[in-house]
Amino acid sequence: MMLTLYNTYSQQKEPFEPAQPGQITMYLCGPTVYNYIHIGNARSAAAFDTARRYFQYRGYQVHFVSNFTDLGDKVLQQAAKEELTEAALAEKYAQAFAADTAKLNILPADERPRASSYMAPMVTFVAALLDRGMAYEVNGNVYFKTKEFPDYGGLAHQNLAALTENAAGRLQNQEQDEKRDAADFALWKKEERPGVQAWPSPWGPGRPGWHLECSVMIDELFGQTIDIHAGGVDLTFPHHTNERAQSESRYNRPFVRYWLHNGFVNINDEKMSKSLDNFVTVHDLLTAGQDPLVLRYFLSKTHYRRPLSYSQEHLDQAGRELERLLRTARSLAAAKGNQESGSVAFQEQLALLQQRFEAAMDDDLNTENALTVLFDLATMGNKLLDSSDYAQVDVQAARSLLEEWLAIFGVANWQEVALTTTQQELLAERATARAAKDYVRSDAIRDQLAEAGILVRDTAEGQTVEYL
Ligand SMILES: [Zn+2]
Repeated sequence: MMLTLYNTYSQQKEPFEPAQPGQITMYLCGPTVYNYIHIGNARSAAAFDTARRYFQYRGYQVHFVSNFTDLGDKVLQQAAKEELTEAALAEKYAQAFAADTAKLNILPADERPRASSYMAPMVTFVAALLDRGMAYEVNGNVYFKTKEFPDYGGLAHQNLAALTENAAGRLQNQEQDEKRDAADFALWKKEERPGVQAWPSPWGPGRPGWHLECSVMIDELFGQTIDIHAGGVDLTFPHHTNERAQSESRYNRPFVRYWLHNGFVNINDEKMSKSLDNFVTVHDLLTAGQDPLVLRYFLSKTHYRRPLSYSQEHLDQAGRELERLLRTARSLAAAKGNQESGSVAFQEQLALLQQRFEAAMDDDLNTENALTVLFDLATMGNKLLDSSDYAQVDVQAARSLLEEWLAIFGVANWQEVALTTTQQELLAERATARAAKDYVRSDAIRDQLAEAGILVRDTAEGQTVEYL
């Protein structure tokens, strides 16, 4: 079987072949760090974390980069509200992003570049486009000539004239007046307001346009055509369209081999949007007691290109599904087989499940079909344990497959035990008892915790706990 991915550029599923066999270069547009991330940001991060984990499962080495936009109008406005400097505000929400995504088991990117750290190469990039006649400067602002890039609309597959007209209506009049064509976009924006963050450039103090940031960070960190550029479908135009136009204009080589876009998030059947004021932040959800593992499962289970329909009802449903899988995972982890040799038929069934799982994920990361295979595996595992005679080798094989697949969905850390305060105190008391060589007491506490379903182990690093 071959891995296929839907490429927004070709609008087709294509066999996936990275430029270097066995290695994938991948970039995901990260958030502007001016607030807590909402479900839409989390969906993108979780969906492509699952993609990244599946690529690794398939044996690829993945070089994964995702940025922070730590400057611009949104940062500026929120910094004023919170009475922080722009840099302090960005730092605050970059840390919040790290905390929220860690709770959702989204692996940290190999690199998390921040736009503000790449000012010198951004200026160089703009200068190079001016040299090539692909850009022009007006009053300290620099614009890209979209008409000079022949395949400008190649990625978006939309009526760009209508879209740019719409966008132009929202722009400041000055920018409209300065642009030679309504579709041109700003590479560099003049900034002279006192107290507002700005960087020096040959065109005067200013800051980069948003699209420029990703182009430059991709070039600085990869220095070549990347295999996968990912992001929300709303970034196709203008963001990714403009990234592509400026990068290919500068380097005369393809910018990206495969464009992957995740679908929208609907909240209670309405599109999530600022104007509807129906943003749900991960921070608020978790603070209100939402189980992060259930949220992660919910974010990963819908196929990444489909709209994700968020509601409390759907979250609860996801919780019930996940519990079914985890119950089996716990039972398999606790099972002790009594037979010497495994069942050939059972092993064959497992091999068939594995083929089905991989076929589903190879088909443009079809997580929905892959999950049906996880539930079949859970059913098989439960049946095995219900039979009175089974071999540990079969338990082990089912268990390792299930855990490996749960990890792809970011929900394999169920072994991490949530102890009550009383249990934590007992554990601390047991450590003291052991240190005093009071093994009667320490064994009694161990037994007491075992009755509550918690297994205590003594390791070189101290006590560890897991579910029995
Ligand atoms: Zn980007």
